[in-house]
Formats: sequence, C-alpha cells, structure tokens
Amino acid sequence: MTEITLYNTAIRAKEVLKPLDATNVRMYVCGPTVYDRAHIGNARPVIIFDVLFRLLRHVYGENAVTYVRNFTDVDDKINARAAESGRSIGDITAETTRWFLDDMGAVGALEPTQMPRATAYIPQMVAMIETLVADGFAYEKEGHVLFRVRKYEDYGKLSGRSVDDMIAGARVEVAPYKEDPMDFVMWKPSDAATPGWDSPWGRGRPGWHIECSAMAEDLLGSEFDIHGGGNDLTFPHHENEIAQSKCAGHGFANIWMHNEMLQVEGKKMSKSLGNFFTVRDLLNQGIPGEVIRFVFLSTHYRKPMDWTAQKAADAKAKLTRWFALVQDSSGDFPSPNLIKILADDLNTSMALGYVDALSRQIEKTGNGVSEFKWCLQVLGLLNLEIPAWANASEFDFTQWEAHFQVVRGAAMAAKDFGPVDALKAMFANAGVEVRMSKDGVELVAGPDFDASKLEGLT
Ligand code: AMP
Ligand code: ZN
Repeated sequence: MTEITLYNTAIRAKEVLKPLDATNVRMYVCGPTVYDRAHIGNARPVIIFDVLFRLLRHVYGENAVTYVRNFTDVDDKINARAAESGRSIGDITAETTRWFLDDMGAVGALEPTQMPRATAYIPQMVAMIETLVADGFAYEKEGHVLFRVRKYEDYGKLSGRSVDDMIAGARVEVAPYKEDPMDFVMWKPSDAATPGWDSPWGRGRPGWHIECSAMAEDLLGSEFDIHGGGNDLTFPHHENEIAQSKCAGHGFANIWMHNEMLQVEGKKMSKSLGNFFTVRDLLNQGIPGEVIRFVFLSTHYRKPMDWTAQKAADAKAKLTRWFALVQDSSGDFPSPNLIKILADDLNTSMALGYVDALSRQIEKTGNGVSEFKWCLQVLGLLNLEIPAWANASEFDFTQWEAHFQVVRGAAMAAKDFGPVDALKAMFANAGVEVRMSKDGVELVAGPDFDASKLEGLT
C-alpha cells in the first residue's frame, strides 16, 4: 500500500500516516462560520483537504475514509448579521450554507462524508463541558463556563509556545468572571434576544472551540487520524480544542495539518485594501472553477499563496490545452507517479508539473492519454465531461444561428430591432461574435467564449 507522508504541525516534521483503522481513515477539518459568502481564502483549506480526501480514498478505498467538516451556525457574527438585516438566523445560515456548497462544488470539491451543524450537537457539547467541570478542568462563574488553561500542562505544545508567551502575543480578553486571563469560554449566557439552550449553567450558548471537540468525538470517536484547517486556527482554536478533548479523556487527533494563508497580488486580503473578493465574485467574472482550483494547486499548501489575475489567465490557457488532449479517452489508467508525488505531503505543485510533462509527451507521441486523464480526475480538475468553456471549437452553433435568424426575421417585419440587439449583447457577453449578412447569421466563438453563459438563453 502507498505510504502517505504528511507534515504534522504538532511535531514540526513530516510523519508517515498510520491510520488507527485502515478500513476507516478519519479526518476532521474546521469549516466555515455561515453568515456570508466564502472569500477566496476560505477555498484554500477546502481544496487542499479535498485533494487529501481523494488521495486517501484512492489509497485506502472509496468507502474507507470518513471526512467531517463542520458548519459553525452559532456565532456572534451571525447574530449581528441577523440583527442588522432583520432576517432570521435560520434563514441566514441556511442560505449561506447552500452558497458555500455551491461555490465549493464549482471549484471541484467533493462533499465531505459528514457536514455537521454545530447547533445539532448542543447536548454533546454540554456533556463534555460537564465532564470538564466535574474533573476540575473548568469552572462556572456568572453563567459562563471557562476552561482552566493552567490545568492542562501541554497547552501551547501544538503551536510551540508557552502560555506566558501566548498571553503576551495574543489579544486575551480580561474579564471579571475569569480566574486567569488565559482561560477561555466554553459556555456563555444568552439574553432573551440571543439564541440560547437550557443547560446546567442556565440558558446560554456554546463558545466556538467546544463545538469541534464535541462533533469530532461524536462522529469520529475518541481518537482519529487527521485534523486540519488554516494556520490562523492553530492558536487559539486548535490549542483549545486539544485542551478540551484531552482533558475530557480523549486521544483526539494524531496528525495536525495547517494550510498557509492566501494573499492577493502580494498583499494581505482585506476589505479596507479593496482586494477582498469571494469565490462567487471570481465565478461571476467568468473565471471557471477549474481555473481557480488550478491556481490553488500550483502553490504547496504550506507556503503562502498569492492569487493574481496573471496566474488565472495562465491557468486557463494551460487547462484549455490540456482538455483538448483528453476528448476521447477513458481515463482508466491510475498513475503511480502522480500518487507518489501527492503522497509526499500533498505536493500539488509538483503534481501539476508532472501532468504538464505528460501533456507534452502526448502532444509529441500520442501516448499516455489514459493516465493523463486519470490524473486530471484525481486532482479534481476534471469530472466526467470536458467543461463547456474549454470546448469552444467543438461547440455547435447551428441551433443558435437558426434561432437568431427567426428573431431577426420577426424584427424586420415589426421594424423593431430591440430583440436583435438584446440577443447580440447576450452573445457578446458569452464571448461570441455575431456576423450578420443578407444570407443569414454566423456565430463565431472568440478567445473568451464561455458556453455556460449561453445556458438558458432562448
Ligand atoms: P473562518 O470562516 O474564518 O473560520 O475560516 C474557515 C477556514 O478558512 C479556516 O480553516 C481558516 O483557517 C481558513 N482561512 C481563512 N482565511 C484564509 C486565508 N486568507 N487563506 C487561507 N485560509 C484561510
Ligand atoms: Zn475547529
């Protein structure tokens, strides 16, 4: 069996993955807080752990991997969004969850095996907090329940920092109900206007960290193989998850994986710099999901990644060339070379280089198409069909030309050319040039042709 090596943040080194149970390899990845569209940074862990999910399924078997990614649907940012918009919390979280799945599907991410919503696991969270209180790892004060950080001696081990360093570096909140500024909230009181659940400490709601500890235990068991997320989560979120779970008597995660952050044109992405955008913004600008995914794969996940318009343009050109090579292939030749590259801590950038070398070989000799197509599928760049945007030369415009001719005839009779202009504009928007002559209408795909924009056009 292929040996998979992964970089484990907890030991700051690569380590061979040795699943606790090779018939059920278990992975937990922290998911989004659902109150708004996912920005492109949020797509980085999704795409990276999707590649890992696909690799694990290849190595251990389609049904031998359990991948859990949560939705945080209880959070003060969600409450604030509901208050300012006048919409219900349920509407906001349901809509945002749907958007997230659509947008991540568009960049080729498979759905995880389980996608728990935090609010469905409140009893499990309460039970874990009760255990921690009973064993002296947590205490109640003024309706809050706090974790006693100094009671867990390995606190800070994941990020390699001492508790005192962390206090100095972090914005730790000092509050009258805390014994120590470092202690973190597992449960807090809710007023009548805020979502709340009954608990031994009164009506309240969970802090953020406890949900992942409780859901991971419920869905993956006391100990599991891989835990992932962006490296902004290492401290405090993951330190706190570990403290809670270990002190509640669990083994928790063995390998901790963290992706580096994404930047835009060399700068940190932020709303104030005006370089903040969502995955949906890119899709709406006509950048196909495959192109977005390619750009992400071209940088190793442990390096900072820069999103640039130039990279997207280069990726589109390369994918167009690649897709032209796989038209009639079955894609049934598994590539040991590609798997070996990915099994070395998900070296996706090298994987793309390997696939490009294969493409050159095919162009020269015609050999290797079946392996090439398989590689595109395993990388999630190609599902069953060649995407329409890459298929301009194959696109059959006959029906559209006939339709255009009918509209044009009617316009001439009615002496109203509005419908013709509207149709022309729609084709232009899809990157299609409209050539009209007395003989008829000819539609010609330009370099920016995007057939998906013709869908639904009648
Ligand atoms: P959030 O909804 O902010 O909790 O983030 C969801 C996931 O996206 C977490 O795993 C974060 O670490 C990750 N993430 C957020 N911003 C970025 C970024 N700029 N680059 C890469 N990953 C990010
Ligand atoms: Zn988490």
